[in-house]
Amino acid sequence: MDLFARMQAYDYGEVHVCTDAATGLRAIVAIHDTRLGPSLGGCRFIHYADEASAFTDALRLARGMTYKAALAGLAHGGGKSVLMRPQGNFDRTAHFKAFGRFVENLGGRYITAEDSGTSLEDMEVIRTTTRYVTGVAPGNGGSGDPSPFTALGVRRGIEACLQVHSGKDSLVGVRVAVQGVGHVGYHLCRELHAAGARLVVADVDPAKAARARADFDATVVPIDGVFDVEADVLAPCALGSALNDDTIPRLRVPIVAGAANNQLAENRNGQMLRDRGILYAPDYAINAGGLINVAQEVAGYNATVSRNRTLKIYDTIREILERAASEALPTDRVADRMVEERLAAARR
Ligand code: NAD
Repeated sequence: MDLFARMQAYDYGEVHVCTDAATGLRAIVAIHDTRLGPSLGGCRFIHYADEASAFTDALRLARGMTYKAALAGLAHGGGKSVLMRPQGNFDRTAHFKAFGRFVENLGGRYITAEDSGTSLEDMEVIRTTTRYVTGVAPGNGGSGDPSPFTALGVRRGIEACLQVHSGKDSLVGVRVAVQGVGHVGYHLCRELHAAGARLVVADVDPAKAARARADFDATVVPIDGVFDVEADVLAPCALGSALNDDTIPRLRVPIVAGAANNQLAENRNGQMLRDRGILYAPDYAINAGGLINVAQEVAGYNATVSRNRTLKIYDTIREILERAASEALPTDRVADRMVEERLAAARR
């Protein structure tokens, strides 16, 4: 594995590696950028086929965090930790205590949080060996479930898209198709329903779709059918790559704005949406509410401050859409440019 070439390809930065024979810990902490502040990003604990995949995952994810934090106006850079999950039995508590010591030794350059494969309970264990952890239990000064904040930001992003697209300032009667009504999707439906929107939902889990129908009078459609629904907005809130060469030509919506990460399967798909005249709210710009909330915990948690900051996602999305129109660029490219400008200004 050519470590340095990979790091240079992602514009790094520093990467720290730690092993602990007593617990079997094998951890990678990627710190992509600290120009705007200490790096912040979740701790992923999953099985990897090999070290190269774990390393690349850490690099890619930490870089994504730099972009999300910078665009949200946070005083944080991007970081991510990847723990290679051991095969067979292991002592989970000892494992996360050892990881906490590793994070502590980085002296605050990296602050960890929950991610795939880790839980609130793991953060509570990590908290016993390091100060540099967020997303701990609300009873211990933590910020709790980030999903309602993510959903709030997405609702504001949808409102910004509607305003730019058709001058609408109200969600009354607006038809929104939501793909995936799990944590964020459900809270988003609640926000939209309360504001008078009409909902169409699809979820691989029939119980989740049925809950949205019962609670918000949503119409349920088959999972693949959500891309053919005629509506004002499509909100992808399930897995990544929802917007791809197959789905984009089928869309019958003027706006795509949802919570899922990595919605564009390929870079070129942003241009495809633009070519079809569809306004796309870049994923990492519109779904930053949860990160804004967890970052607030670092400074001393205050839900009102988190909420007010999350509401500003409206302005960010508007700025992106307006710049995309005046510069004739896809919105995802404009979002990247805005981040690169902020980072360059910080460098100066
Ligand atoms: P979740 O697992 O609670 O919800 C996802 C839902 O999508 C589930 O109900 C699942 O059954 C459904 N689903 C999966 N595949 C589907 C498909 N093909 N069609 C329709 N439904 C499908 O996850 P979540 O926390 O709500 O996150 C949703 C998305 O938002 C993810 O991409 C996540 O990375 C992103 N995101 C979440 C947060 C947060 O605060 N939780 C923050 C930023 C981004």
